[in-house]
Amino acid sequence: MRLGAHVSTAEKFSLSIDRAVEQGCECIQIFANPPQRWNPLVIPESELKLFKEKKEKAGIDPVVIHSIYLINLASENPYFYEQSIKSLIDDMKKASMIGALGVNTHLGSTKGRDFKDVLTKIVLAIKDILAASPDGPYFILENSAGAGHIIGSKFSEIGEIIKAVHSDRVKVCLDTAHSFESGYNLKTAEGLESALDEFEKEIGLEKLVCLHLNDSKTPLGSNRDLHADIGRGEIGLETFRRIVNHPKLKHLSGIIETPNLKGRSDIDDLKILRGLVK
Ligand SMILES: [Zn+2]
Repeated sequence: MRLGAHVSTAEKFSLSIDRAVEQGCECIQIFANPPQRWNPLVIPESELKLFKEKKEKAGIDPVVIHSIYLINLASENPYFYEQSIKSLIDDMKKASMIGALGVNTHLGSTKGRDFKDVLTKIVLAIKDILAASPDGPYFILENSAGAGHIIGSKFSEIGEIIKAVHSDRVKVCLDTAHSFESGYNLKTAEGLESALDEFEKEIGLEKLVCLHLNDSKTPLGSNRDLHADIGRGEIGLETFRRIVNHPKLKHLSGIIETPNLKGRSDIDDLKILRGLVK
């Protein structure tokens, strides 16, 4: 498994590649827009080009762009709905310019409505985004922990959206913490197998292009999204050993989004994960 981390693009966008190299990343995730703001960030074309050159030279691959946190493709507020679409199109354009694998996003919240009632809205939004984006980067849906009615905590919801959008450009990222928090018991060998079986049945494993490797601070089925450093949470090291060596998963890229508590760094977490690879 290729391993990497979410890396900061602060100061200069292309500096993230230097940081990735320093941290021993083989792949990375970045923000291409300020995660708490609607207004897209203008990144000079020269900077995007430099990023791509440096990434190719360093062999960092894949690069995944994470969307901003405000996205809600099911929003009843027309402003937020339109801004979500606009922001994701901007991310997709940047992804194309830097040769990224795709844009990873959460779907948003039903705010208590039935999933069936928001499905059409989400599907239309994704179709709009794909139509306005250059071909190449994937549009990657991340599974959620299910907190605050956030969509995509069940593989069946993601599967329904993908079937309705009906495009090869839509893929999936599986977050280990969110899976566990939403009730998939990855902690045991049988639990991991049955989660993968359900993923295969509802979505199809060929859609899975990336993993977020995070331990969970909260228990199984808590619906509370709180990441822990690798081996320091409820999921535990043995599960990560199974995941990084799993025949159905080991060809994927694994990206950490860990909190770096008590002196732990991304470098440490990546070393721990590499130590588990057989
Ligand atoms: Zn994640």
